[in-house]
Amino acid sequence: MSKKIEVVIIGCGIIGNCIAFELSKKGYKTLSIDKNGDSGAGSTAGSCAIVRAHYSTLEGVAFAWEGFDIWQNWKEYCQVDDSWGMAKYNECGSVMIKSQDRNWRKILEHWDTVGVPYEDWDIKTLSERLPIMSNREFWPQTRPEEDEAFFDERDTTIEGALYCPAAGYMSDPKLSTHNVQMAAEAKGARFMFNAEVTQILRANNRVTGVMLKDGTHIETQVVINVAGPHSSVINQMAGVEENNTIKTRAERHEVAYVPSPAGFDFETNGFQISDGDNGIYMRPEVGNSILVGSEDPKCDTHQWVEDPDQFNRNTTDSQWTAQVYRAARRLPDLGIPNMHKGFAELYDVSSDWLPIYDKSDLAGFYMAVGSSGNQYKNAPVAGMMMSELIEECEKNGLDHDAQPLQFMLPKTGISLDMSTFSRNRELNPNSTYSVIG
Ligand SMILES: Cc1cc2nc3c(=O)[nH]c(=O)nc-3n(C[C@H](O)[C@H](O)[C@H](O)COP(=O)(O)OP(=O)(O)OC[C@H]3O[C@@H](n4cnc5c(N)ncnc54)[C@H](O)[C@@H]3O)c2cc1C
Repeated sequence: MSKKIEVVIIGCGIIGNCIAFELSKKGYKTLSIDKNGDSGAGSTAGSCAIVRAHYSTLEGVAFAWEGFDIWQNWKEYCQVDDSWGMAKYNECGSVMIKSQDRNWRKILEHWDTVGVPYEDWDIKTLSERLPIMSNREFWPQTRPEEDEAFFDERDTTIEGALYCPAAGYMSDPKLSTHNVQMAAEAKGARFMFNAEVTQILRANNRVTGVMLKDGTHIETQVVINVAGPHSSVINQMAGVEENNTIKTRAERHEVAYVPSPAGFDFETNGFQISDGDNGIYMRPEVGNSILVGSEDPKCDTHQWVEDPDQFNRNTTDSQWTAQVYRAARRLPDLGIPNMHKGFAELYDVSSDWLPIYDKSDLAGFYMAVGSSGNQYKNAPVAGMMMSELIEECEKNGLDHDAQPLQFMLPKTGISLDMSTFSRNRELNPNSTYSVIG
């Protein structure tokens, strides 16, 4: 096999572009293809781009923590100056409320093992650090239209919160994806937009190329499915979907925008808040506003989408109200605007809400899918890991199914057993089965 393998990457979202960048750094000739007109115009564009370290599994924590340095030093990572501008990391810190539904003691153990710096806040510290925040306990999470006592006074308080000062969010997820495109192009990667892959060509159980909608045939020995919410469509084209134990499917999610409570500068002094007690997450947004998303509590019905090209991109009265009213319980001075601002996008949800970073049963066909609403932050590290997997399998003949790659996380020196991200793993019982992962 030639040293320089031409790799086709389906999808120019943040994960696809980071894989293109990392493979190009290793000297591979990559071609990234996207049916949209630009990088990051798929589900990445709707990402809240939160960078946090609270995950339910040790691997999840180690993976996320590894990426922090990259986001903090974004320009150094990209090694380019994008004429469109560079996305910026806002290090606002994350506050994870100690809720009954989240095993925060386990997360604390993982943070200690990995070495994530944090502060353990009691409710007094919480009130000092974020005076606009209520310390009442709202457990179990409910919806205002179903719970007559939704706004009733509560007698109990939450236990406190875990504060991670290095957490934050990227200013513009789409721009960050364009930044990585520029970075990859500077290393020789090629990009093709407005081009839809309609077939994965195969012979003798090996990928031989892809066919585009306009009839263009591209020959290649390696194809990577990084199609986000379209991942299962591409897996079906490759004929690998049925054999995978872990499946993926698109789920619709809403994000609401609300102004910060009057007199408080949430944009500057707010945190990324993970409120499992109340079933929402929040983060500061430009214009002194707050983004509010759902953390998938049981009371919020899953909105599975059959066709990822057909879904309602607007917020609905019911879900917007559920998220914003929960936010108003936590931030009692929050004004409820008459105009509902927000949007809906798709997650690519796996069977256990943990990603698949793996090869497939079809030689030369790889998957970086099932990002389950929580892998934006992991994209650069996923790019490194996928590029190593492809190199080991294609160049060095690794049998990854028999001997899973052990990927060394460069910062912490922790070795990640990639079987954690296998398409054929057993459902991980430690996952929250939610966006928290
Ligand atoms: C509302 C929302 C909030 C989120 N918030 C966070 C967060 O705060 N923190 C976090 O870490 N993660 C978050 N995520 C998750 C994160 O954004 C995703 O995991 C990540 O953006 C996925 O990137 P991707 O490159 O895999 O997919 P995408 O960005 O979806 O890219 C896939 C690309 O594939 C292309 N494509 C599909 N089919 C074809 C085809 N047949 N031919 C050619 N091209 C094709 C699409 O056009 C698309 O551009 C959020 C996601 C959503 C939806």
